[in-house]
Amino acid sequence: MLLERHEAKREKCSILVLTWPLRARCILVLEQRKRGYLMEKLSLLTWKEIAEVDKDKSILFVTMAPIEAHGISLPLATDLLEGECWSKNAMLQLEHQKGYQCFYLNEFPIASASVSDFYGCIHFSMKTTFTVAKELLENLIHFGFKNIVVVASHADPVHQIAVEKAIEKVNRHYGVRAISPLGAFFSSKELKITHDLPELVSEMENKNPNDFHAGWIETSCILAMDEKLVRTGFKQIPMTSIREKEMISKKKMLRAMGEYGHLGNPAVANKEVGEALNQEVADFIVEAVVKFVERTEYKKYMHHYLYRIPTLHIGLFINKRWIRKRRR
Ligand SMILES: [Zn+2]
Repeated sequence: MLLERHEAKREKCSILVLTWPLRARCILVLEQRKRGYLMEKLSLLTWKEIAEVDKDKSILFVTMAPIEAHGISLPLATDLLEGECWSKNAMLQLEHQKGYQCFYLNEFPIASASVSDFYGCIHFSMKTTFTVAKELLENLIHFGFKNIVVVASHADPVHQIAVEKAIEKVNRHYGVRAISPLGAFFSSKELKITHDLPELVSEMENKNPNDFHAGWIETSCILAMDEKLVRTGFKQIPMTSIREKEMISKKKMLRAMGEYGHLGNPAVANKEVGEALNQEVADFIVEAVVKFVERTEYKKYMHHYLYRIPTLHIGLFINKRWIRKRRR
């Protein structure tokens, strides 16, 4: 039954994927068509079709990221779009190169942030993010999935920690079933996990350090996905600056964001850098997921390096009484 459905949706799916800008993706898709697998959106299947899936050979992806202000040139869904792009990119490689069958769930716009005062952000407490992630994973484990990948495409450590804590909890209770590899990606330098940084990205990083939010990194990533999503005036936006160690101060972050809401230099963004960045993240996910599925040497990908700091877990135990926002 599954194979019949694959046949029917091949054409439609490959057109969708071909809109991705990377030429390499096109080659993968053509290869993919020969093989018969194509990633499936889980919520479009019936319960019976899901029950028939070979859970030993399948991987399920779900993105958890916020609807959040990303400066004046990027959409609120920037992190969700990134999560979706990186997941699809990784799923194509996992199906094509490794023979796994991949599924993905609708994105969950539930995420936590250390600074949520800026206008246009929908953030949740760490406790809420933890609870949603834990209960979501429990449901998916009851479907029978053994390899669940949470793509937490929002770099804030408090979000990473809330998701990783939920994973730790379910893995301890049900046996190892889930991983969230992006905490390790965002702190790969500190964790000493080496991965190839494309030359044009490292050059850009040297020239424009301290790019944390809606700067050249994210603007480039979105340009590579769909140029139409980036407002045309982005090259005129002034750089805002803050150093990494100042990022622990909410006051300093908000001051640096000013009237614009970004931290970094969006004006220098370009599509080529974005393509390289999107590819780099997907490759990292593939590397972590393959090790996770094989259950060998995967533990280094399980946590952000700040996970070990107990004070950063405090938000998991408190409920915010009121949400404070800047109004317009
Ligand atoms: Zn973002």
